[in-house]
Amino acid sequence: MMEHALATHCWNCGYECNHHSAPGDDHAPPSDGDISVCINCGKLAIFDASMPDKVRRPSPSESIELHQDPEVHQMLIAWYRAKHMTER
Ligand SMILES: [Zn+2]
Repeated sequence: MMEHALATHCWNCGYECNHHSAPGDDHAPPSDGDISVCINCGKLAIFDASMPDKVRRPSPSESIELHQDPEVHQMLIAWYRAKHMTER
């Protein structure tokens, strides 16, 4: 999986992430509207190049929509498993 250098800061925990990768599309850099999962806290964010942190918090309606998306659900399960494997 190809990683793309882009510094973002999580809206929830402030974690700085320097690299991003897209499951299913190795060569696609993040673009506005793409979904991100914070590797530190697991919160969802939306890429937005116009924001200082390059990601923004989803609106309440976006958040509801995202949590109903099966692909997002799979991403969150993958994050949860990875997070808890590294804490052992
Ligand atoms: Zn976070």
